[in-house]
Amino acid sequence: MDNYFLNSIKKDLDNDKIISEVESFIFDVILKHVQDLIFIMKVENDEKFTYLFANEIGKSHAKLGNNYVGKTFYDFTRSEIADHLHEKYIKVVETKKTFSYQDKVQIDENIFSYGETILTPIKNEKDNVIYIIAVTRDITEKVIEQRLLVESQEMYKSLVDHNMDAVFSVNLDSNILTVNPSVLRLLNEEQGDLEGLSIFDLFETNYIDLLKEAYSQTIGGNAVEGEALLLYKSKELNVHYKTIPIFINGKVHGIFIILRDITEKTKQSEIIEHMAYHDPLTGLLNRSALKKDLNAILDHSKKQCSSVAVMYIDLDRFKMLNDILGHNSGDLLLIEVSKRLSQIVEPQYSTYRHGGDEFIIVLPCTERKEAEVVAEKLIQKFKEPFYLKEILYFISLSIGISMFPEDCEDDDSLITNADKALYVVKQRNRAQYLFYEKEMDKNKNELLAIETALRRAIENGELTLFYQPQIDLTSEKVVSFEALLRWNHYKLGSISPATFIPIAEESGLIIPIGEWVIEEVCKQIVYWIEKGYPETVIAINLSAKQFQQPHLIDMIESLFNTYKISPKQIEFEITEGSLQNAEEALRMIKRLKSLGVTISVDDFGTGFSSLKYLKKFPIDTLKIDQSFIKDVLCDEKDEAIVTTILHLAEHLKLTVVAEGIETEEQLAFLKKLKCHKGQGYLISRPIPAEQITKFLL
Ligand code: C2E
Ligand code: MG
Ligand code: MG
Repeated sequence: MDNYFLNSIKKDLDNDKIISEVESFIFDVILKHVQDLIFIMKVENDEKFTYLFANEIGKSHAKLGNNYVGKTFYDFTRSEIADHLHEKYIKVVETKKTFSYQDKVQIDENIFSYGETILTPIKNEKDNVIYIIAVTRDITEKVIEQRLLVESQEMYKSLVDHNMDAVFSVNLDSNILTVNPSVLRLLNEEQGDLEGLSIFDLFETNYIDLLKEAYSQTIGGNAVEGEALLLYKSKELNVHYKTIPIFINGKVHGIFIILRDITEKTKQSEIIEHMAYHDPLTGLLNRSALKKDLNAILDHSKKQCSSVAVMYIDLDRFKMLNDILGHNSGDLLLIEVSKRLSQIVEPQYSTYRHGGDEFIIVLPCTERKEAEVVAEKLIQKFKEPFYLKEILYFISLSIGISMFPEDCEDDDSLITNADKALYVVKQRNRAQYLFYEKEMDKNKNELLAIETALRRAIENGELTLFYQPQIDLTSEKVVSFEALLRWNHYKLGSISPATFIPIAEESGLIIPIGEWVIEEVCKQIVYWIEKGYPETVIAINLSAKQFQQPHLIDMIESLFNTYKISPKQIEFEITEGSLQNAEEALRMIKRLKSLGVTISVDDFGTGFSSLKYLKKFPIDTLKIDQSFIKDVLCDEKDEAIVTTILHLAEHLKLTVVAEGIETEEQLAFLKKLKCHKGQGYLISRPIPAEQITKFLL
């Protein structure tokens, strides 16, 4: 115990109070155990401060040694530090008030310690400061902690302020407290405009419940994220949101809401989604959409016990049109067809492009009868022509329909069965609809079998040509023949060209078959010449696909050369369809004609050529389609058509052949109208070459 200090205090305060045992104990604590630096300085003449007491830690810090009493700061420290201390003490003397300050002491090169000092004056009865008690606490740890706090606050601020995402802090009442600059940029607002608003005011009403749920979960301590539609003044943005609880001392005090503008991304993914389920040409739903939708519709219908109809639609003769018109016009036509389908089909049904010229309509909750009504309507509406580049096109539909659950229970077989029904429609008569029936399974297989068999027909020698005479209606003499293809399959028997020619066209087999026909006709002519029969003209049918073949002319020329055929003996029958692509057709006809053959237009009146069109082409003959001849005597319209064609032909100096004459009355009528030539069962059915001689002689 530093008795000197005690004695001197007793003396200076002139106090007789005896320091009790307790006081001595307290003093001991102050001296040795208190961690604060304690100094008592004696004030001399209001301007000099000498050490009177220092506790152990104080002595060691200030490096006072043992004989410090009566010495000043200047005896133990550098003069600038002593000046600095001196100044503070003077202030206490002058103000006579407790004064505190903080200072920094360099301990080592890079190490500092921080202290907080409280200077307390002790005054005598004259109110002069006679002692100053200095208590210095080492606050280095606190300072470092505070500095870290400030640093982290700054880091946080910079993170928020420079964040590209919009960051809101929101209180527990969902009111916006602060926003970062990205918020202002995103919403075109000034600082302060948003504060106090509820965060929910910024969103589209449909999303509020979702966001309220996210908000309460976040207040519960969990971060949540999702997507929502921001709707604020004129801004409408798709945003990704993340809500983060703000914890202070383990308690949630509010939340951060971080928004990212994903409008572009959303738009892009919408486009991607659209592309995945839509056909780029027509904008209709595509196959993938069909698969997805049909499954969902069937699931629903199973639960509801309701019926579904699936319509498989194919455009009649589209493939031919596409080949003739070129793909660009074909595409335009498909677009027009799609538009018309969409106009006709009620919104509760969906239309899909299944590929090429095939469309599928799915009719949920639809019974057979209703499906029938829709099919009728479609077929009726497609009787109206399409206009494309000022030309009229007639495109009819064939429709196959299958029903759920009667016909089958899964999506694939519904489509396949509708397709089977469609096949039968196509085969029988186009522009019709049919519902699927069990027997059709056989039918489709048969058609496939036909295609396979047709491939081998030439090699197997199953193809033959029949010839049908054509007479001059004035002289009633046979003047020419039409070569008509016959196929006698060893197992399936005789198959009509009406059945296999379309298959041959679709499969491309028409090219080798067509070549075979021309060569066969050449051989037949050679044979007849060798036998000494008079020269005659043979008409050969060319399908649209054949007519388009770039090698067609070379092939014909080479056959003529090989067999030494006089081209005058050959007439080529082309269809109206072949004339649609006018420029191309004109070039082909000119090249054909340059060989020396004649050209006729077959089935005239059934296609889509306008009469004025004909002038453009150097053709020789028109063959009036048998459908007009059939009813020429009983149907005024047909009579008018036949008469008009004959007038027109006369004007254009074309020969006219009437096809399908079956009765004497028809023959007489056509004669009266001065139709040039006739062909039909009345004169002769198509017959094998061997039987032709009687007509030749
Ligand atoms: P097309 O060129 O119009 O041939 C006339 C069709 O009418 C023939 O049918 C013929 O047998 C039939 N016919 C002739 N007179 C009468 C009649 O008085 N009444 C009825 N009801 N029908 C009659 P076919 O032989 O079945 O040929 C059908 C179609 O197949 C032909 O129509 C033609 O477009 C095509 N075709 C036939 N042979 C060939 C060929 O070698 N090449 C190509 N590309 N097509 C061919
Ligand atoms: Mg013909
Ligand atoms: Mg014909």
